[in-house]
Amino acid sequence: MSRIPLVVGNWKMNGSLASSDAWLREFRELCRKDAVRCESGLCVPSAYLLAFTPKLDSEPVAGEFHVGAEDVSDRVGTGAFTGEVSGDMLRDLGAWWCIVGHSERRTLYGETDERVAEKVKAAYDAGLHPILCVGETLEERNAGRTREVVLRQIAAVLSVAGIEALEAGAVAYEPLWAIGTGVAAGTDQIEPVHAVIRGALEEADPVKGGAIRILYGGSVKPQNAAEIIALPDVDGALVGGASLDAGNFYRICAAV
Ligand code: PGA
Repeated sequence: MSRIPLVVGNWKMNGSLASSDAWLREFRELCRKDAVRCESGLCVPSAYLLAFTPKLDSEPVAGEFHVGAEDVSDRVGTGAFTGEVSGDMLRDLGAWWCIVGHSERRTLYGETDERVAEKVKAAYDAGLHPILCVGETLEERNAGRTREVVLRQIAAVLSVAGIEALEAGAVAYEPLWAIGTGVAAGTDQIEPVHAVIRGALEEADPVKGGAIRILYGGSVKPQNAAEIIALPDVDGALVGGASLDAGNFYRICAAV
């Protein structure tokens, strides 16, 4: 099964109008000199989507590149949900990707597996391409519960949103203990978990499950990207800190 590699950045609560503009100009310039061969994307605070999307329409970045959101409401339509941003609104702003269930949402904002599953469904139904994040805490890993945790997180989404939602997007394995630490999980730790995720997806649907891209996230940088992405069943990366710098993000894409 050949899957096109995908590298997506996650700005988290960082950036500004000025840095959005500068980032896009620099990334575009680098791609112009030497086009990347992977598919790529950048998820930014929804407040900055319009700093990207109209410019992508007028002058596309070389290769397949789309901008996305970092979260979405589980509510559909409109209504009295102060502070929520719906999938339709994100689509209206030109978002393509949508990260769902990032560990920071789960741990800092109490998002349960059920809420995450509803969000994946809402994103997919709105025409977004959800990137479902799964991963274990250090305590769960040390207790030998990694497999159980990621399988539970995936099962919740499959039962509510179906495999089609993940087929439209991707799954990202992000062990919490490797996020923002500067130290990525070892290749011997990444590979078995990706195999578990692949197994669960293929069990749900052998064809669709085999086609879904599984990204690794957690301290990916230009120096370790090639080694990680070369692993079986690692189809790309979800990049936090290193994506804030267009040059570093480009170098990660180029390493694929
Ligand atoms: P990091 O973050 O690359 O800064 O570790 C990854 C993520 O949270 O998606």
